[in-house]
Amino acid sequence: MLLERVDSLLIGRFAGLDDEPVIHGFSTRHRGKSRVDSGALNLGDVPEESAAWVNENQTRFLRALEVGPESLAVPGQVHSGKVACIEEAGFFPETDGLITRISGVTLSVKTADCVPLFLWDPEVPAAGLIHAGWRGTVHNIAGRAVRSMAESFGCSSSHIQAYIGPSIGPCCFTVGDEVGRRFAPECREGDKVNLWIANARQLLEAGISPSHIHIAGLCTACHPYWFFSHRARQGRTGRMLALFQIV
Ligand SMILES: [Zn+2]
Repeated sequence: MLLERVDSLLIGRFAGLDDEPVIHGFSTRHRGKSRVDSGALNLGDVPEESAAWVNENQTRFLRALEVGPESLAVPGQVHSGKVACIEEAGFFPETDGLITRISGVTLSVKTADCVPLFLWDPEVPAAGLIHAGWRGTVHNIAGRAVRSMAESFGCSSSHIQAYIGPSIGPCCFTVGDEVGRRFAPECREGDKVNLWIANARQLLEAGISPSHIHIAGLCTACHPYWFFSHRARQGRTGRMLALFQIV
């Protein structure tokens, strides 16, 4: 994973997607306007934030990626396992994952600890962008997204590349028994849950090749300088935005 400076913003990218016919990236905290985190590029409508500043921050981030606001496809993000197959921009309530094969539609997901998961099939081509917090992971949203790409677009899971972006790591994701026991023993260590491994396991079970699973391995809670973290800031924090578009 790379952090690149574009128009004074720091933008996260995956090297493996750089030579593909896609626009992709995720925002960092750097260089914006925010009431909940002074000077930060908050891209989420969180309590106490200025809607005008979020709008201004979004304009800067979209401009840096050369993406038009009218192209955005925005999921409702309700911590579900639901994946929508879409053909146009717009708001998609009650969904946490979007998949498409239409060029020019920009898939989006907002996070601050939850896992942003990019899925790319270069053969069809088809793209997916998934919001997988612990609840979405329990719903196997990663596996559902791969199956949706196969059913809707004829994707072969052996062609799909998966990229797990910055999110809370196994170092910091402490959970209670009630949550912990919903995860396989391989995804737990003491009172910590490893969402990266949990999602990787679901991708493997859905037929993705181990060599096609790429984990950024950057914990949002361990890197408060770069990322917003819901856990690290006890809920008072902004949101990062991940974008994925077939060009
Ligand atoms: Zn950590």
